[in-house]
Amino acid sequence: MKLTGKVALVTGAGQGIGRGIAEVFANEGADVIVNDISTGEKTDQVAATIRSLGRRALVVQADVSKREDVERMFEEAQELGPIDILVNNAGVETIVPFLDLTDQQWEDVTNINLKAGWMCAQTFCRRAIHEGRKGAIVNIGSIQAARVLPGRTHYAPSKLAIEALTRNISAEVGLNGIRVNCIHPGLIDTPMIRWVLESPEILPQVVAQISLGYPGKPCDIGYAAAFLASDEARYITGQSIYVDGGWAGK
Ligand code: NAD
Repeated sequence: MKLTGKVALVTGAGQGIGRGIAEVFANEGADVIVNDISTGEKTDQVAATIRSLGRRALVVQADVSKREDVERMFEEAQELGPIDILVNNAGVETIVPFLDLTDQQWEDVTNINLKAGWMCAQTFCRRAIHEGRKGAIVNIGSIQAARVLPGRTHYAPSKLAIEALTRNISAEVGLNGIRVNCIHPGLIDTPMIRWVLESPEILPQVVAQISLGYPGKPCDIGYAAAFLASDEARYITGQSIYVDGGWAGK
């Protein structure tokens, strides 16, 4: 097991990729803090799965695009002990033609997809460095860092910028023993993109661009995240990797 004895905080873990990452981490021996903006039945189910694997789980409600929520989340998370791993997964996608996009729509997407990861990483690193602890951060970007889809002039830049965020944070905290990497998922079967999976017109067009010829599962992102967060990746930092069945490279 790659993550035995580690404590991980996964944002947006109530469903989809975040849930997949939380469950793979627990399978690999980690205790997991399950964050989401809305908690209840879904987050309780994730926590129950983690506990059924013999690990500890804690559900913490927080809107990670708000500084005060982020600070409170890290305080409440202390219940499971010092956090070793942060996964910045929470994100939203909207589709709006460039010429119609409003300032508010730009800010809403950018605050959650980019600023939230920056704030969570800063809070995590400040605490870890103050306490003299090492750590690992995994940021979740998107295939749209490399491929154009219509109506995403706000979403795509927020995801490509995560690469720069990853590189720049990694350079400032490397000497403190904190590693920072990024995963760009391709088409992954989650509630966010269910409309694509259920569209007989759009799905074949997208799948035709994927070398392996099928959508991935949340656990596929979980496996890559578990590796990057583990000591097996101890000499990897500042990197971004596509976990996309060969979409970006086709
Ligand atoms: P999803 O919508 O199924 O799940 C996202 C979760 O994040 C939800 O539970 C939601 O409540 C939570 N969340 C949203 N805003 C939040 C906030 N402000 N604070 C805390 N939690 C919040 O989406 P998903 O498909 O699982 O996507 C997860 C991440 O992966 C996102 O960053 C997304 O952009 C990225 N991504 C997904 C795909 C895909 O094909 N599914 C592809 C590329 C990138």
